[in-house]
Amino acid sequence: MGELGGFLKYNRKEKNKRSVQERVKDYKEVYKPFGKKYLYEQSSRCMDCGVPFCNFSCPVDNLCPEWNDFVSNGEWEKALEVLEETNNFPDFTGRLCPAPCEGGCVLGINDLPVTIKNIELAISEKGWEEGWIKAKPPKVRTGKKVAVVGSGPAGLAAAQELNRKGHYVSVFERDDKAGGMLVYGIPDFKIEKWIVQRRVDQLREEGVEFILNTEVGKDYPAHRLEEEYDAVVLAGGAREARDLPVYGRDLKGIHYAMEYLTQQNGVVAGKEVAKEDRIEAKGKKVLVIGGGDTGADCVGTATRQGAEAVYQIELLEKPSKDRTLDNPWPQFPQTLKVSTSHQEAEVFAKDEDFGVREWSIATKRFLGDKDGKVKSFEAVRVSWIEGEDGRKQMEEIEGSEFSLDVDLVLLAIGFVHPEHEGMLEELGLDLDERGNVKADNYRSNKDQIFVAGDMHRGASLIVWAIVEGREVAERVDEYLLD
Ligand SMILES: Cc1cc2nc3c(=O)[nH]c(=O)nc-3n(C[C@H](O)[C@H](O)[C@H](O)COP(=O)(O)OP(=O)(O)OC[C@H]3O[C@@H](n4cnc5c(N)ncnc54)[C@H](O)[C@@H]3O)c2cc1C
Repeated sequence: MGELGGFLKYNRKEKNKRSVQERVKDYKEVYKPFGKKYLYEQSSRCMDCGVPFCNFSCPVDNLCPEWNDFVSNGEWEKALEVLEETNNFPDFTGRLCPAPCEGGCVLGINDLPVTIKNIELAISEKGWEEGWIKAKPPKVRTGKKVAVVGSGPAGLAAAQELNRKGHYVSVFERDDKAGGMLVYGIPDFKIEKWIVQRRVDQLREEGVEFILNTEVGKDYPAHRLEEEYDAVVLAGGAREARDLPVYGRDLKGIHYAMEYLTQQNGVVAGKEVAKEDRIEAKGKKVLVIGGGDTGADCVGTATRQGAEAVYQIELLEKPSKDRTLDNPWPQFPQTLKVSTSHQEAEVFAKDEDFGVREWSIATKRFLGDKDGKVKSFEAVRVSWIEGEDGRKQMEEIEGSEFSLDVDLVLLAIGFVHPEHEGMLEELGLDLDERGNVKADNYRSNKDQIFVAGDMHRGASLIVWAIVEGREVAERVDEYLLD
């Protein structure tokens, strides 16, 4: 430990952000780099507990106390070595993970947890700055060939691990850039795209082949993979968006969040979009339906595009600020999260009757103007009451119906499962009851075909995609060397 009892001396401090006024003018990352003093003090808060609950709470099993210790002692290269043992892409999770490790931090029982995620990011960035993060090509090749379909975090992690084990790896990606949701879903203000690209370059240098602009099941027959490769890993994500089939859903100006975010990420990257296809919030009253990460990303994007007003509504109840009795430490805290996008929207909010974020609201219908464009939405407030089976049930509150003028509606209510049409149908894979690819220890009903990430577990988190990418690589390696 760098400083014994550091947690008694230093309080938790959040990362410094650029001011709201400055950051909404661009799509660059919101957070500023860390200072030396910050990193020393925050890493010194780690108590090096006998039982590291942070480690058990982390899906990739990050060895947080070990690297906190190295950082507080200034031993950065050793910190990176330990971090790289468990996580291929700490520069992704250090920016984007909801940090279940911090939910498990023992200091969090009666104080605020250690800023584990920030330390993780600092170690990774130092690794890049110092040139310690390098390509690690395998010394020998096995001669086996593996195809990975999808280049999101699951596909990238699987590809890197399999390649480092000596197999030849080809990654098929239908987009023009590798990175999955990290590139064409999550906005630049959360992760700038060169950060993803430097990892793709690292994989290329290690010997991984990327076959872009190629959709398996459309541009490249899926059954050819079975003939041409010794094993196949499907990591195509879970992109089938959940719809809201209410009256007026087909009006112009109502879009899935992913249509909106993907287009804007493309525009930031310099792509041209025809005027008639452009989905833009400038001067509009924007309604985001869905209270999760995707919804928050729409809020931040609409603010940057110059929306006149941004509202985000959620069907579920407002989470409490603190842990409730049924959500004790060391569980992941199901508490109210305020993203940087929400902070921005609050600064520009003008409407006093309807907040930027509202909970317990059920959408009834959308109404349009004479040109078929959405002009308002009607909804009702609901309450959540515990039923006889102990589960909460929704009840509409009589007389609480209301309407709101809106010009752009973004549906961010999640993803139901992977797309079935195309690759999955052609391969004839079994699906589970939720419509994800069914697998036993990552292996599908076809011997040679494995599955990982959102395509396997349903829409989830980057950290889980990395875990699954690493684990599927182990299973494929065992299969190939059997
Ligand atoms: C807007 C948004 C914000 C999010 N924010 C966060 C966050 O802050 N933190 C967090 O932890 N998680 C976040 N997530 C979730 C996270 O992005 C996903 O859980 C994660 O990316 C899943 O990784 P994956 O590799 O399984 O799939 P994906 O990242 O979806 O990648 C799948 C890839 O496969 C490709 N593909 C699919 N089918 C084919 C085919 N037939 N042929 C070729 N290529 C194919 C796709 O084009 C895509 O590139 C967010 C998700 C969204 C939508």
